[in-house]
Amino acid sequence: MDSFVEEILLSNKEIVEVCERLGEQITADYRDKKPILVGLLKGSIPFLAELMKHIKCDLEVDFMQASSYVGVKSSGAVMVLKDMITPVVGRHLLIVEDIVDTGLTLQEVMNLLSDRGAASIEVVTLLDKPEGRKVEVDLKYVGRRIPNKFVIGFGLDYNELYRNLDYIGVLKASVYKK
Ligand code: 5GP
Repeated sequence: MDSFVEEILLSNKEIVEVCERLGEQITADYRDKKPILVGLLKGSIPFLAELMKHIKCDLEVDFMQASSYVGVKSSGAVMVLKDMITPVVGRHLLIVEDIVDTGLTLQEVMNLLSDRGAASIEVVTLLDKPEGRKVEVDLKYVGRRIPNKFVIGFGLDYNELYRNLDYIGVLKASVYKK
């Protein structure tokens, strides 16, 4: 195990199994709908890449990058750093997220996209930390519920590092308390 990792929560084999299961469900639900998978950068990239291999229907892929404002308002308005290119009017959108914690980012992104006239908007997330939730968000597809710990790997970073790990692990507290 890598020296900065406290515990492995999902091995690469388990991640692939999760993606197979989610892919089957999404295939059944989106047959004939030609969904747009909307990957939220940067963390969703490895998950989106693995997941889409297991979705056996026509689909398109686009990306968005949103960053939460840390401001006086606790409602957490998001700043769009990179927007989608594909027009969304009348389209079925499936937002692909790495992890949902407070739910604030996702809530804002969903509001923004529904204002643009999408036919439907659902969410698929690899990880869910329900204990951290501050706002209700409807997560249609969840890979794995995990405890309220800071995790890294498979797209998830700490100060932009560790996204390249092929597993999900809990970061040792000694790394961020240095
Ligand atoms: P939320 O708005 O739900 O609080 O934020 C979700 C975003 O926070 C995720 O897309 C991710 O970038 C970040 N995040 C939340 N929990 C973790 C975690 O345990 N590890 C890492 N690396 N990022 C996290």
